[in-house]
Amino acid sequence: MARDYYGILGVDRSASDSEIKKAYRKLARKYHPDVNPGEEAAEKFREVSLAYEILTDPEKRRIVDLGGDPAEQGGGGGGYGGGFGGGGFGDIFDAFFGGGGGGRGPRSRVQPGADALLRTRITLEEAFVGVRKEITVDTAVLCEECSGSGSASGAKPVPCQTCSGTGELQEMQRSFLGNVMTSRPCPSCQGTGDVIQDPCNRCHGEGRCKARRDLVVTVPAGIDDGMRIRMAGQGEVGPGGGPAGDLYVEISVQRHPVFSRDGDDLHLTVRVPMVDAALGTEVRTETLTGESLTITLPAGSQPGDRIRLAGSGMPRLRAEGAGDLVAHLDVFVPRELDDRSRTLLEKLRDHRDDSAQVNREGDGQETLFSRLRNRFRR
Ligand SMILES: [Zn+2]
Ligand SMILES: [Zn+2]
Repeated sequence: MARDYYGILGVDRSASDSEIKKAYRKLARKYHPDVNPGEEAAEKFREVSLAYEILTDPEKRRIVDLGGDPAEQGGGGGGYGGGFGGGGFGDIFDAFFGGGGGGRGPRSRVQPGADALLRTRITLEEAFVGVRKEITVDTAVLCEECSGSGSASGAKPVPCQTCSGTGELQEMQRSFLGNVMTSRPCPSCQGTGDVIQDPCNRCHGEGRCKARRDLVVTVPAGIDDGMRIRMAGQGEVGPGGGPAGDLYVEISVQRHPVFSRDGDDLHLTVRVPMVDAALGTEVRTETLTGESLTITLPAGSQPGDRIRLAGSGMPRLRAEGAGDLVAHLDVFVPRELDDRSRTLLEKLRDHRDDSAQVNREGDGQETLFSRLRNRFRR
C-alpha cells in the first residue's frame, strides 16, 4: 500500500513547499525524541520526516501523485513491493525456500538509503561548551545529471522482457514435497521488473553517485563520550534516488590532563603541603573555560577530603544546570628537611601531644584501609 504522505503531514494535495515545511516543523517539534521520548513518538517522528523528505522532492512527489510510493520496501516480513497485487505462485513455498531473497512481485526500484556511522573526537573543553564540528563523510548523493531517475533522457523504465515485468523467474524444482515452484529475482532487472533503456552516463542508472561531503555537526554542551548524534537524512541516498538514510556521529571525548568526568560531575586532584592542609589555604586553578577558580581548603583538611563546588561541573545535556566540581585532596609531606624546617617541626611536636598509634575501627577514626575501601564504594 502506498502511504498517504499528505495525510501524515495533514496538508492538502495542492500544498506548497512552504506549507509542507510548516506542517513538518510543527509535527517534528511535537514528536522529536528530545521532546517526546518513547517508541510511539519516535515512530511518528520517522514517519513525519519521511513524508517531509518525499513531498519536498519534486521527483518523489510526482511518484506519490501518480499513486506510487517512493519509499516502498514492504513493511517487514521479507517480501517487497506491497503495491503490486497478489504476485502469482508460491507464497507458501517461498516460506520454505528462502523466501526472503525471492520476494513476491517486482521490488521497487527506489529504495531508502542506508544509515551511516562516523566517529569524531572532541576535547573535554569542547564538550563543556558545545561545538560545531566539521566532518567529512564519503556517501552516496542524488545524481544531479538525472535527478535520481537513472535515465539519461528522463524516460520511464520499460517492462523487463526476461521476466515480463514480474521481477522474478520461476522454476519447477523437485523436493521432498513433490514438485514445487520456486522463484528467484530476475537477473536482467535485479528484480525490479523494469529496465532503464538509456542509463544515465553519470550514475549508470543507479540514480545516485558516490561523493565526499563536508558537513557541520552541532555537538551540544554536556555531551559525553560514546554518545551519538543523529543527523536525519544525511546518510546515503538510496538506490534509484531513494530517500537518504540518517547519519550518526559518535562522539569520542579526549582525556583531559586535569579533569576527569563521572556523569555530570568533574573531578580533579589537588596536592597540598601538610602545613597548608593544617592551616587551611586557597588553591587557584582554571576551569574548562579558562576562568580562574579558587578552591578554599579549611584548616584541618585531611588527605582524601573532598571539596564539592555545586553547579561547577559539566552542563547537563537534557536539563537545566550543571553537575558538581569535586576536588580530591592529596596531602604531601616533605621528603627532605633542611635544618631550620627540622627544628621548627620538632618544636611543633614538642608543643603538641600527638603520638603515632594504631587505629581501631569504631573509635571515631577511620582506618586507612576502611577509608580506601569506602573510597572505592563511592
Ligand atoms: Zn544519473
Ligand atoms: Zn526482469
